[in-house]
Amino acid sequence: MDKNTLDKINALTRRKFKAEELYTFPVVLCHNDIDRDYERFSDEALDKMAELFVGTTGIFDHNPTADNQSARIYDTEVITDPEKQTAWGGTYRYLKGYAYMVRTAANKDLITEIDAGIKKEVSVSCSSARRTCSVCGADVNSGCEHVRGKSYDGQTCHTVLDGITDAYEWSFVAVPAQPGAGVTKHFTEKGGNKAMADKNEFTAITTQADFDAAVQPLIDAAVAAKAAEFEGWISPEDHQKALDDLTAENKSSLLKAYKTKAALMAGLPEELAERLTGDTEEDIAKDAENLAALTKSKGTPHFEAEGGVMSDVEKYFYDRNKNLDPRTRKENA
Ligand SMILES: [Zn+2]
Repeated sequence: MDKNTLDKINALTRRKFKAEELYTFPVVLCHNDIDRDYERFSDEALDKMAELFVGTTGIFDHNPTADNQSARIYDTEVITDPEKQTAWGGTYRYLKGYAYMVRTAANKDLITEIDAGIKKEVSVSCSSARRTCSVCGADVNSGCEHVRGKSYDGQTCHTVLDGITDAYEWSFVAVPAQPGAGVTKHFTEKGGNKAMADKNEFTAITTQADFDAAVQPLIDAAVAAKAAEFEGWISPEDHQKALDDLTAENKSSLLKAYKTKAALMAGLPEELAERLTGDTEEDIAKDAENLAALTKSKGTPHFEAEGGVMSDVEKYFYDRNKNLDPRTRKENA
């Protein structure tokens, strides 16, 4: 280990380490080719990450040998491979990170594994402010008609990740190195290291049942999110009931209005309005006219009621409202 390397590492550590206490190894953090999610980093994104990944911690995901072990990037470099073309037609570039670990008894096996090249695939987490469509350049969140993975004029549509604002960590994922297997990445707004590992298990959906199984968790999550959004709000059933109650109330005030109107039109005193019967405006008006006709007729014999004389109007009213009729009430008493 040269002095320059040792200085770079010691710039990041709490105490000064000697070369023999340290183990260093290179990792390919990310590249500018289209990955399995039909995404790629722009060249600017790679340059920005070269700067931001220095000092970040790498973890060994889902690996019992590597429990509680971590490594740290002390230097980075963007390397251009002029011999290699990317799927989108540009020259292949990748971000190489140089990591160190402090040698301990606990990480002896892990170091052997790294030396043996077993751990090749790395995933990175960072935040990207811009995600644009490779075909039209539109922000993918604002929506465009192009479908990722579909070919347009011989070019595979993909998302270009740019505007890197932060680099958080990197991790070895628990899959063996595969030819052509690139770097995976995830964005730390949501999800964790598990999501990174799961991303590597890409399987094409070919049946309706597989599709249903794949989308069901998304549907469940959406339904749960909606339910949470409306938590404490009135349920559709309660809402209908409230509406029904309101309608009943409206209906009763409407009938009351019809009765007042009918009474006034028929020239009846307003107090008699509520005595009018009928379920429709027409019936109420007819009842009011009948009542008015009786009121106006003179010399009509009075009905003898208990405690006095019942007028024709009263008789007419009580004939129609037997529950209120003092004559009936008397008999029943
Ligand atoms: Zn587009």
